[in-house]
Amino acid sequence: MTSAQTGPRLARRAAGFTPSAVRDVWELSLQPGMISLAGGNPDLSLMDLDWMAEAAAEAIATRAGSTLQYGSGPGEAALREAIPEVMAAEGILAAPESIQVTSGSQMGLDLIVKLLCDPGDTVVAEGPTYVGALGVFGGAGVQVRHVAMDHDGMVPEDLERLLEELAAASRLPRFVYTVPNFHNPTGITLATARRRAVVEVCRRFGVPIVEDNPYGLLSFTEATRPSLHGLDPDNVLYLGSFSKILSPGLRVGWVCAPPWLRRELQLAAESTTISASGLSQALATAFVRQTPWRESVAAVAARYAERADALCRALEDSLPEGASFSRPAFSRPEGGFFSWVTLPEHWRANELLEAALERNVVFIQGASFFTDGQGAHQLRLAFCSVPPDGLREGVRRLAGAMEQYAAE
Ligand code: PMP
Repeated sequence: MTSAQTGPRLARRAAGFTPSAVRDVWELSLQPGMISLAGGNPDLSLMDLDWMAEAAAEAIATRAGSTLQYGSGPGEAALREAIPEVMAAEGILAAPESIQVTSGSQMGLDLIVKLLCDPGDTVVAEGPTYVGALGVFGGAGVQVRHVAMDHDGMVPEDLERLLEELAAASRLPRFVYTVPNFHNPTGITLATARRRAVVEVCRRFGVPIVEDNPYGLLSFTEATRPSLHGLDPDNVLYLGSFSKILSPGLRVGWVCAPPWLRRELQLAAESTTISASGLSQALATAFVRQTPWRESVAAVAARYAERADALCRALEDSLPEGASFSRPAFSRPEGGFFSWVTLPEHWRANELLEAALERNVVFIQGASFFTDGQGAHQLRLAFCSVPPDGLREGVRRLAGAMEQYAAE
């Protein structure tokens, strides 16, 4: 006699939550002697956070009603007024009433998926794309189709072809997700002409865009490019974050939403967290109102620029000769945290990772950033949390692993 299955049964959607490769290598990154080119963590040691303890004490002492109590569903008014100033630093116009504060922009994306997608729906994202977005899509039972990228970002012609194919199958995506500035994982920035083209194609097909921009202020150049949101405010939902310019641990991000989504966004946010942390919101507000934040963000960006430069020079000098690397073999980021390396076509990044780990250097395999099996010969290198000397040593070790791999 077979006994009936007992014990708790999980919902079907539980199977959609799969471990992220980035989390998997986190443990490895912590091993003594390891140089981690894996994690995309901002380097808090570069930031001036001395003001924060005092600001927290002051906020608690004088405004306990907003810092320690349940708060406003869309976010504290003072922060909703400060966020448009942060966006204005990138030339983006936004009104306080368009801002929904969230516990990190990750939550913003989760809310958007909840509101726009049913299980089985399709979304379109760059290939490769942010691994945390893939986690949200997987958890919601949403299929991902990738648009090709080159060194100028998403290819609008490929997007148009994909939307035509999906329209013909009556499967138009619920939105196009993109990280146009200093893309995670490639570090690539979407060219200005392409921004206009992407916005135009999406509008023509009636498909909204989700523009995720956590790195935009961490630019290494003076170049400015229009935000997608600015080009088509009614069709582009914008995600912003304090994680990379202040602290990821505060968990403060936002959605800048067009009028047609604001009410539902607020209701969904309230149902998820009631309100975002009042203390964290007070600190994010103090950052904007009471510190020279534009100067400090620019100073931090300059340090990341040195790191990007150290990484790229080291790669240039040490990729093994003789191996058939594509040209360019790696991206040269103009901001943000990442560079993307393309190995010779037949190499496998997972096998290279084993050789790298033996030499105490770790990276993330490219395949983690795709849903369709691409990226096996690619990898992401993060330069954000290692000083230049460590990056040079990390690349030396990585090059050693490559030579060993090529010889085997
Ligand atoms: N989007 C992208 C592209 C990211 O790289 C990250 C963080 N790694 C996030 C969103 C999540 O940021 P937050 O801490 O604001 O949730």
